[in-house]
Amino acid sequence: MSVSITLLGTGSPMPSPDRAGPATLISVTGGAVDEHYLVDAGRGVLMRLAAIGLGATNLTAVLLTHLHSDHITDLNDVITTRWVMTLPPAEPSPLVVVGPVGTRTVVDHLLASLEPDIGYRIAHHDDLHVAPGVVVHEVTDGRVDLGGEVDISCAPTDHRPVDPTVGYRLEHDGASVAAAGDTVPCEGLDRLCAGADALVHTVIRKDLIGQLPIQRMLDTLDYHSSPEEAAQTAARAGVGTLVLTHYVPPIPTGGDGADWRALAAAHFDGAIELGDDLHRIEITKGT
Ligand SMILES: [Zn+2]
Repeated sequence: MSVSITLLGTGSPMPSPDRAGPATLISVTGGAVDEHYLVDAGRGVLMRLAAIGLGATNLTAVLLTHLHSDHITDLNDVITTRWVMTLPPAEPSPLVVVGPVGTRTVVDHLLASLEPDIGYRIAHHDDLHVAPGVVVHEVTDGRVDLGGEVDISCAPTDHRPVDPTVGYRLEHDGASVAAAGDTVPCEGLDRLCAGADALVHTVIRKDLIGQLPIQRMLDTLDYHSSPEEAAQTAARAGVGTLVLTHYVPPIPTGGDGADWRALAAAHFDGAIELGDDLHRIEITKGT
C-alpha cells in the first residue's frame, strides 16, 4: 500500500506559464485499494492529471478546501470531462464533490452555466442521455463518509474573511496525510495534522509580498500562512513531512526553492518538500 502526494498545481491566482492553479492529488493505491482524491481544482488541473496518466474519470472525489476562485476555476472542466469521457458500457458515475457550506450553491451555478453545452452534447450523441451527475457533501468538522477504503475527516481552518473553510485528513493502513488549503495557524488545523505523516500546506512569502507597494497584495498577508508559520504548525503537530505549495511569489521554474526551505527549516526538523508542478512525494507503510 502506498500513499502518494502529487503537487498538480503549485501556482496561485497570478497566472504563470509554468505553474498550474492550486490542486493536489492524494492517491492511495495497492492491494485492493485504488483511490484518488483531488484537493482543490485550480487552473489547468486536468492537463496536470493527464501528465501522470490520469483523468477526471479516475477521481474518487474532489475535496474543496474553500471557494476562492483560484481553487475551483477548473471544477467545471472536471465535471464536464468526467461526464463526456465516461463511455458505454460504463455507467455514468457521479462526481463526488466535498466542500464547505456553499459548495452546493457553487456547483448548482456551474451546472446552470453548462446547460447549453449539456444540451448540445445530449442532442448530438445518441448514447448520451443524462446530464452530468454531481453529488455534493457539504462538511464542517469530523468524519467524512464517502464509503471508500480511505478514512477521511475534516476540520475548520481560518482563512477569514473567507468563511467557512476546511482542511482534510486522509488515512489508510497507518499512513496519514493532512491537506490544509489556505489558512493561518489555527486549532482546527492543529487537530487535523496531529501526528500526520505529511502536511500539505499552501504558503505565501510574507517577507517578500509585504514589501510590495500594492495594496491588493498586502491584503493577502493576513489570511495565509508563511513558510515559517506552516513549519511551526508542522512542528507543533509532530508531522513527518511538510509539503509546501501555492508559492506566492512563484519560485522560479527549475529553482530549488532553497530560500523557502531555509525559512521553514528554521522552525521544523522534519523533511520539507517543495518543487515544480508534478512533484511527487510517496509515503510507504504497512503491507
Ligand atoms: Zn484562498
